[in-house]
Amino acid sequence: MSDCLFCKIIVGEIPSEKIYEDEDVYAFYDIGKQAPHHFLVIPKTHIATLNDLNEKNDAALLGKLTLTASKIAKDMGFAEQGYRVVMNCNEQGGQTVYHIHLHCLGGRNLSWPPG
Ligand code: 5GP
Ligand code: ZN
Repeated sequence: MSDCLFCKIIVGEIPSEKIYEDEDVYAFYDIGKQAPHHFLVIPKTHIATLNDLNEKNDAALLGKLTLTASKIAKDMGFAEQGYRVVMNCNEQGGQTVYHIHLHCLGGRNLSWPPG
């Protein structure tokens, strides 16, 4: 964990607007909102990047991050209109916080491809 921003958010050392939490994952609003709905889903264990996930042990966790995002989008009422989930990896992928997080964006038309 050491000096990880999102590990500090999980334990409440840094405040966040929590949406959902269970034993495995934590979901909260992104501070730099890029769409009317923009939240992050993170694992409670510290994993720096998508490249650090283990095929054998982490498949269920990755599935849970995705399913949590989709459940929240449904609960918030924008799942039918559509939304995007994305995980940035490393520098060229645009990752700035090195604790994996699934972005969920919705509530507006999202362009493709990303810039
Ligand atoms: P990345 O660029 O690594 O894919 O995404 C990191 C995200 O974390 C950014 O969208 C940024 O706005 C968000 N973020 C950075 N610091 C904080 C913070 O202190 N609180 C919250 N809620 N979000 C943050
Ligand atoms: Zn962390």
